[in-house]
Amino acid sequence: MTLTDIAISENRLILDGQEVDSVSGETFERTSPAHDVVVARYAKGGAGDVARAVTAARRAFDAGPWPKRAGVERSRVLRRVADLIRRDRDHLARIEALESGKPITQAFDEVDASAELWDYAATLARHSYGDAHNDLGPDVLAMVVNEPLGVVSIITPWNFPLLIVSQKLPFALAVGCTAVVKPSELTPGTTVHLARLIIEAGADEGVVNVVTGSGGVGSAMSAHPDVDMISFTGSTEVGRKVAAAGGQLLKRIELELGGKNPQIICADADLDAAADAVVFGVYFNAGECCNSGSRVLVQRSIADDFVAEVINRARRVPVGDPLDPATKVGAIVSDEQLAVIERYVSEGRSGDAELLLGGGRVASDTGRFYQPTVFANVRPEMSIAREEIFGPVLSVLTFDNLDEAVGIANSTMYGLSAGIWTRDINAALSASRALRAGTVWVNRWMDGYPELPFGGYNASGEGRELGRQAIGSFTQTKTIQLQVGERTTRWVPAAHHPGGLS
Ligand code: NAD
Repeated sequence: MTLTDIAISENRLILDGQEVDSVSGETFERTSPAHDVVVARYAKGGAGDVARAVTAARRAFDAGPWPKRAGVERSRVLRRVADLIRRDRDHLARIEALESGKPITQAFDEVDASAELWDYAATLARHSYGDAHNDLGPDVLAMVVNEPLGVVSIITPWNFPLLIVSQKLPFALAVGCTAVVKPSELTPGTTVHLARLIIEAGADEGVVNVVTGSGGVGSAMSAHPDVDMISFTGSTEVGRKVAAAGGQLLKRIELELGGKNPQIICADADLDAAADAVVFGVYFNAGECCNSGSRVLVQRSIADDFVAEVINRARRVPVGDPLDPATKVGAIVSDEQLAVIERYVSEGRSGDAELLLGGGRVASDTGRFYQPTVFANVRPEMSIAREEIFGPVLSVLTFDNLDEAVGIANSTMYGLSAGIWTRDINAALSASRALRAGTVWVNRWMDGYPELPFGGYNASGEGRELGRQAIGSFTQTKTIQLQVGERTTRWVPAAHHPGGLS
């Protein structure tokens, strides 16, 4: 595909199964961050549109057939969505590459992984069962049933738009919830298209509603009294605001937030594999990745050689047009994100870290591209060692022994993921237990599976997505007690409560 093939896509809100204009009638455009070409136009939603969407989702939950359908019926719809995602693979990948700036090959991977999530949720939709208690006494049988929570607000970021909505929405739908979804204003395209596919797959009206727009839409969704749960992925800063607004109304809140993820490289590791993972870990998706391995802790005895090898490989990473299949690092998503990267790099330069590679923009006629960058001799207290940069910037620190490495690894406010590279299985296991992170990779990095729970410790989040427990995030438990036969004892209030019932 070339740029000349691109026609501007026109998109409206998706409310109650219909594509409609926003209350204000206003629109906004998305420009490809690599090409500076307008690729899509969207309805600009506001609080009034959130109200319409929540009303539709509420009605679909309270009075619609979706929550009452058998699990197998919902499962069929989810499975069909997975098939439709695969049918529209090229279209979805193209939108993702154009709006986010990621390489088209990685966009294809994202689409494939998203379809897998819908398939997995379709399987879980047939396994939402409760529990029974038959040993509470001779005259009682109790059931523990899981019921769908209700209306879920789903708010997502721009770095993996289709993947992240697919980590939430199919699991909510699997148990019978309904949803209002707000994608990032930078990358709404795949979410809007996904909603069309969900309708095509046979979901009932109002089950999935999409309101496009800026952060104000998310804020209205978090504070809406008729929403039962907020599932948010994004920055820790915005996550705190969402939690404050939703917490005030005692909603259930699930947060997937930022990370500053350490990879610990021990001297006895397979250094070839580790160098490969370090380069992939920090430059994948241009470092705009919650799991970015942006902090590497190398054992001092091998540090110089290891860093030289990483630089050698990083120099060869092709940066450029996301539509070129050879590209490995595409465009930075926005001018704002580019400014954040430049601010951190300038802080790194002005500290006593050593800039060994990159540190500037890649010259180009259009768009915004940043060089793969490596800082060595970074100290744990520096901002480039502690804060999420969300760009292709690697900070290398050194350590002498594993206890010290784990201490440094645990010294930021985050706790999303961590990794350790060593051939010593005991060292790997004890470090894995000591690392405060939701995921620890031993001699691998960034692999994810629908079967495995994902989420963060500390300021990286609250709750877990994926895994077979994922549907539990969207249910609440009810216990039902049945009297079996004649009651053998009489309930005498005074006997149980000498002070009376008050
Ligand atoms: P962001 O927090 O700026 O925005 C996320 C979403 O929240 C967007 O849709 C945005 O419009 C919306 N929003 C903005 N202000 C809001 C408000 N006051 N109330 C409600 N919603 C609001 O994040 P981003 O820049 O889009 O994404 C990057 C961040 O996401 C990084 O911190 C990254 O680590 C994190 N992230 C985490 C995971 C994870 O699974 N842990 C995955 C991907 C990205």
